Amino acid sequence: MQISDILSKTTLSKEDIVVLLKATGKDRQLLFEKSNEVKKEHIGNNTYYRGLVEFSNICAKDCFYCGIRKSNKNVDRYQLSDEEIIKAAEFAHKENYGSVVLQCGELFNRQHIDRITNLLKSIKAISNDELGITISVGEQSYETYKEWFDAGAHRFLLRIETSNQDLYKKLHPNDEMHSFETRVKALESIQKAGYQTGTGVMVGLPFQTVEDLADDLLFMQKFDIDMCGMGPFIPHSDTPLFQYKDDLWPLEERFDMTLKMIAVLRILMKDINIAAATALQAIDKIGREKALKVGANIIMPNITPGMYRDNYSLYENKPCTDEEAEDCKTCLEARITIAGDDIGYGEWGDSPHFGKRRQES
Ligand code: SAM
Ligand code: SF4
Repeated sequence: MQISDILSKTTLSKEDIVVLLKATGKDRQLLFEKSNEVKKEHIGNNTYYRGLVEFSNICAKDCFYCGIRKSNKNVDRYQLSDEEIIKAAEFAHKENYGSVVLQCGELFNRQHIDRITNLLKSIKAISNDELGITISVGEQSYETYKEWFDAGAHRFLLRIETSNQDLYKKLHPNDEMHSFETRVKALESIQKAGYQTGTGVMVGLPFQTVEDLADDLLFMQKFDIDMCGMGPFIPHSDTPLFQYKDDLWPLEERFDMTLKMIAVLRILMKDINIAAATALQAIDKIGREKALKVGANIIMPNITPGMYRDNYSLYENKPCTDEEAEDCKTCLEARITIAGDDIGYGEWGDSPHFGKRRQES
């Protein structure tokens, strides 16, 4: 079947998606033109900012891909103080970013849970309720998710990482704390607690196939997610998966496949929010802007104080780790405009999909 025939269908099968993900040359171009068209029609021209605060790299988990995993002894562990986090949120508010994302390693103790609850309340208070808050702080119970929702967070990002259970097992230790079932249950609890629910995967993992990636997109569609963040897998030398670095798809292919994943997802789920992941920029200086052109509509400028950025090293070559937030803002604004988008300053930029989902339920 011709690509143009697939692109004019109303529903896509797994086989259709595989063809789209494997598209090259003129077919690839047609895919990108279509996804950009769908974006303009259903989402518009606005790119929304989420100021990203990576507030702690302390993690109780040991995911085999991640540079800040518990067993990596070559990391200087840090926790931003409450004052530093609030100051970063004030910066986002002053700069009219509309929203912040709070992200950290996973901890499960009561003190950690209370701290996040209080931070959420404080950020709401200092911004007169104006800042939207997304959290990306890992797996917790339904009750904890609800507590944070009630304290002011309204969007949650928890990547499923891969929807292939066998592959998931190869990427994580084989124990209770790293189970695929728990991750799916956590996503369900997030949705049930009332959040705009975001998930995503890494692209180009060891052992991952194009068929797996097609299944990932269908998983997201079936789950009826509101937001997605996907990025290329980038090996870190202090992690167990580094041993497979020579077996991976070449870097440019992982990058290009991520763009195609974004494009196909935009066609599958026309009105969700899709982030242009920071990991794209680690490979190509204008990687995130390229993602905006094929369907993404969210950018997460890093506003973590510069002195901590090096220590939140999930993968090598992470961009902008030596810059302060102000530097990032200026260069980003120019590049987004060049990519043909406007910046939705001062707006939450919620996913239209979520609004419709709520109306229907
Ligand atoms: N701890 C929380 C969690 O795991 O959901 C949030 C922070 S975690 C560092 C955020 C994301 O970083 C993960 O979901 C994973 O997809 C991504 N990540 C970790 N290591 C990576 C790597 N080597 N390459 C690309 N992305 C990576
Ligand atoms: Fe911890 Fe998240 Fe990294 Fe896993 S991906 S080790 S949970 S920070």
